[in-house]
Amino acid sequence: MENFSLDQLQQQLLRGTLSCERLVLYYLQNIVNTQELNAYVEVYADEAMDYAKALDIKIKNQPESLGKLFGCVLSVKDLIVHKDHKVSAGSAILSGFESQFTASALDAVLKEDAIIIGRTNCDEFGMGSDNTNSHFGPVRNKIDKSKISGGSSGGAAVSVQADTCLVALGTDTGGSVRQPAAMCGVIGFKPSYGLVSRFGLVAYASSFDQLGIIGRHVSDIDKVMSIVSIYDENDATMYSDGLYSEQEAIKKTSYRIAYFDQAVHTDGIQAEVYDAFNNSVDKLRSMGHEVNKIGFDYLEYLVPCYYILTTAEASSNLSRYDGIRYGYRSPKAKTLQDVYTMSRSEGFGKEVKKRIMLGSFVLSEAYYDAYFSKAQQVRQLIRQKMDEIFENYDFIILPTSPVVAWDIDQKPSDPLAMYMADIYTVLASLTGMPAVSVPNGNNSDNLPFGIQVLAGTKKDKNLLLFAGQI
Ligand code: GLN
Repeated sequence: MENFSLDQLQQQLLRGTLSCERLVLYYLQNIVNTQELNAYVEVYADEAMDYAKALDIKIKNQPESLGKLFGCVLSVKDLIVHKDHKVSAGSAILSGFESQFTASALDAVLKEDAIIIGRTNCDEFGMGSDNTNSHFGPVRNKIDKSKISGGSSGGAAVSVQADTCLVALGTDTGGSVRQPAAMCGVIGFKPSYGLVSRFGLVAYASSFDQLGIIGRHVSDIDKVMSIVSIYDENDATMYSDGLYSEQEAIKKTSYRIAYFDQAVHTDGIQAEVYDAFNNSVDKLRSMGHEVNKIGFDYLEYLVPCYYILTTAEASSNLSRYDGIRYGYRSPKAKTLQDVYTMSRSEGFGKEVKKRIMLGSFVLSEAYYDAYFSKAQQVRQLIRQKMDEIFENYDFIILPTSPVVAWDIDQKPSDPLAMYMADIYTVLASLTGMPAVSVPNGNNSDNLPFGIQVLAGTKKDKNLLLFAGQI
C-alpha cells in the first residue's frame, strides 16, 4: 500500500480488492514497528478500527453516500483539538486536558469520512525546529534514528515518512510543516493565511499560525485542501472568497520563476543543499521555465522580524495557561499567586519560557517602539516587496532549510543558530503567502532536503499544480 495515492486507494476500496479495515491494520502495524521513532503521543487504534469497519459496510451498501475522503487515514498534530480527545501541545501544562470541541478543519475532514489514526508529537506549542522541545521526548528520523525529524511538526512528518498514515495534518507558524517534511523526504504545504480556519488550533502566534498538510502525493494534499478550505465564521481572519476550491490553476508551459541569489549563496548553507538547489535552477530552465536571479534587500531582517513578532504574540496567547482554566495546576501551590507562578514554572518547558520572556520584553513599554512596532513596519515592507515581485513572477524558489537533519544530541552552541536556520521558511509566514516544500534529493549520508516554492496570496492551487510538475 506504500506509495499509493488516495485516488488509487479509493479505486481499490470500491473494487473490493482492499478494505478500510485492512488499510487501518496495515498502518497500525507500521506504528508498532516504528514505535521507537516516537512520532505519536497517542494512537486511536480501537476508534480507527471501528470507523474502518463501519466505512467498509458503507462502501458495500451505500457507496453513493461516501464522503470525499473515504479511505484517507490521517494523523493529527497534538496542537489541533478534537472533541472528547486529549490535546497537550507537546506540553506538560496541558496534561490531562480534553477538548470540548473539534477544530473546524478537522471537523471538515471527519465529515468526509477520513479516519484519524492518532495524535502526533510536536515541539511544545509549536516552538522549535527539531522536535526536541516536546514534553514527550524527541521524534526520531526514520532514515537515521540518531537524527532529528525537524520540527515543530516532527511527529506529523515522520508519521508520513514511516508510512503510518496517508496524510498528516500539522501546523506551520514559521516553517513547521515545510521544514520537517524536507528533512523526512516528504511534501509539506502551507496555504495562504486565511484560507483554512484556525479555529481549534492551539495558538502560538495567531497572525502566523496556519494549518498545514504533509503527504507523499500532491494530489492528496490537493484533495484535503479542497475539504479544509471552507469559510468559518469562528475565525475572523478567514477570507470569505478566493478559497481553495474557487481558485483557478493556470497551466503554463513556461512559468516566470525568481530566486534570491544572496539568500542561497551564504555561509550557513550546506554544500550539497546548495548544489542541489543550483541544479534545480538549471533543470527548471531546461523544462522551459524562465528562472531569474533577483535582489531582495530584507533578507537579514526576516528571522529577527519573525522572532520579535511571534514571541510577542506567544507571550500574550500563552497567558491563558494560568493553572486555573486548563490542564496542570501545581499541587504545591498555597496562594493564588502560587497557583499562577508555580503552575507555569512547572508546566512550561525551557524554550516556551524563553519565548514568553522575550515576547514580554519586546512588548514592554520601554522597548515596544524599538522592537515590536519596528518589526511590524518591517513586516509590512516585506509584504509590499513580495507583492511587487509577484506582479512579475509566478513563483519564487528557495531551499526549504539550509541544512539537513542534525544529531538529536547536538546542543546548539549558539542559541541563535537554530533560529537562523528558519531563514527560508519564515518569509512565506511573514507575508501570509502559500509555500510548499518538495523533496529535492539526499546528501551523501542519505539525509533528504527540500526545495521550497512560494506563490502570491490565494495562488495556492497554481502552486500545487506546479509542485506536481516538479
Ligand atoms: N521553528 C520556528 C519556530 O520555532 C517555526 C515553528 C512553527 O512553524 N511552529 O518558531
